[in-house]
Amino acid sequence: MALNFSRRNTLLMSIGVLFPSFSFAMKQKRQKRIGITGKGRNQVKSTSKVRTFKGKTKTPAIIGKARPALPLIVLDPGHGGKDPGAIGYSGTYEKHVAYATAVELANQLRRSGRYQVYLTRSSDHFIPLNGRVDFAQKKGANLFISMHADALRNSSVRGASVYTLSNHASDAQSAALASVENQADRYGGPNIHVTSPAVEKILASLVKMETKKESAAMAQNVVLSFNSRVGLLPNPKRHAAFVVLKSVNIPSILVEMGFMSNRRDEAALRQSSYRQLIAMSMKNAVDRYFTIGGSVTHLTG
Ligand SMILES: [Zn+2]
Repeated sequence: MALNFSRRNTLLMSIGVLFPSFSFAMKQKRQKRIGITGKGRNQVKSTSKVRTFKGKTKTPAIIGKARPALPLIVLDPGHGGKDPGAIGYSGTYEKHVAYATAVELANQLRRSGRYQVYLTRSSDHFIPLNGRVDFAQKKGANLFISMHADALRNSSVRGASVYTLSNHASDAQSAALASVENQADRYGGPNIHVTSPAVEKILASLVKMETKKESAAMAQNVVLSFNSRVGLLPNPKRHAAFVVLKSVNIPSILVEMGFMSNRRDEAALRQSSYRQLIAMSMKNAVDRYFTIGGSVTHLTG
């Protein structure tokens, strides 16, 4: 897939020149991803040898074919286990709708052969919010998408919406949703390790700004894809302080696919054909994100 390198890559290259220690941390992470093993570059699992120009044999440093890593996407089906999420008008659990749609989206993305996809939960079990963010961090995700279908007191409200992180909610409804969604657990600071706290602060701030821009771009893509296919709330691009969106270095969005509190939304979300439509729309948004404005660079150290 042709990937355009975004502002994020430019930022990272600049950081690499200015702050070698930060660059080194990123390089280590990348080496792990392409299969360089052990303490030295010569320590490999492969038994095959390659000839150098001097006629000596040398063990290859990289296992298998060195192909560019595919963008890694973490999908986060909301709730699970003892936490059912919102309970719908006719008793449907949000956790089941979120999981079924996330699995459908994961299948569509994987079938394209263009992405690596992981789910924060692969069955009906409870994961704390910080555990979901930690999972994305450990995987070195390029994009994090949390999937929900929450409830509101006003059962007449229906339609999808897409959230990005902000400490100041875009409206009272968004603030209420985030406060219900968030639990006591909190995710810590950015996963960036450099020697000077002052430098760390500056880098974290640059990365945070870039992540915010890319999260907003992804949210816009989802809204565009949903438009005319999936019913949207008025002003569907919203922001609020959702804990699962707090990764400083991974563009993250939370998609409310509709409201379980609305009879028509709940009925639609129970249909696999509707969930396929949502997944297809989201896949289109992901494709656009990684083709036009995405990035495959990891920022974790
Ligand atoms: Zn939810």
